[in-house]
Amino acid sequence: MAETGLQAIDCNMTYNSRRPKKGRSKTAARKQVRRLTKRASASLPAVLLDREGVINRRIRNGYVTTWKRFAFLPGAMRAIRQLSTRGYRVLVVSNQAGVGKGLMSLQTLEEITRRFLSQVERAGGSISRVYYCTHRAEDDCICRKPKPGLLLNAQAEFHFDPARTFMVGDTESDITAATRAGCKAILVSKSRKAIWHAWAHKPVTVVPDILTAVAYIFAQSGGSRK
Ligand SMILES: [Mg+2]
Ligand SMILES: [Zn+2]
Repeated sequence: MAETGLQAIDCNMTYNSRRPKKGRSKTAARKQVRRLTKRASASLPAVLLDREGVINRRIRNGYVTTWKRFAFLPGAMRAIRQLSTRGYRVLVVSNQAGVGKGLMSLQTLEEITRRFLSQVERAGGSISRVYYCTHRAEDDCICRKPKPGLLLNAQAEFHFDPARTFMVGDTESDITAATRAGCKAILVSKSRKAIWHAWAHKPVTVVPDILTAVAYIFAQSGGSRK
């Protein structure tokens, strides 16, 4: 477990991109993670990103079950790099019920995650942690969005102020989870119809893509200057 960087916390899985080097003891690994976590703790503002439909292309009625099916959306890597270079901690919160349904193994999800994180890093960005819910809707877990469990776990680990934190997502469940966790929700939608008007929880803004979401975040945070 420690070698792969995947660990079970309550009912969700987390993936640490700064996983310890192979061949080191579990204790050393844990210490390193703790040190990295502590060092970077309260000071950094955070941005929470949904995965499918924000970072990578959504697969209609299906799941990204292999790396081949993982396609970055235009501008996603650039957007993450912009967040990283402006000093934002980037965290991903994503439902991956394909695992719970047996359509993909946890190992495969981990493999996909490792590859997408390494591409992000090669593009100059950094994602501190990826939180997954791997349950099915009928499992009634505490982490599957629209429940706020993944976001609350991220908050417990990185101590960001929810009221000053944006969550970027493309579905109603993202907006609901963000609102329940006390965060501000940004909806990514290309639809010109105001579908969100009927939703119980509303996004603070609607943008066509993640790059525009990031520009909005910078503008709101007074960080729009170069
Ligand atoms: Mg999505
Ligand atoms: Zn779950």
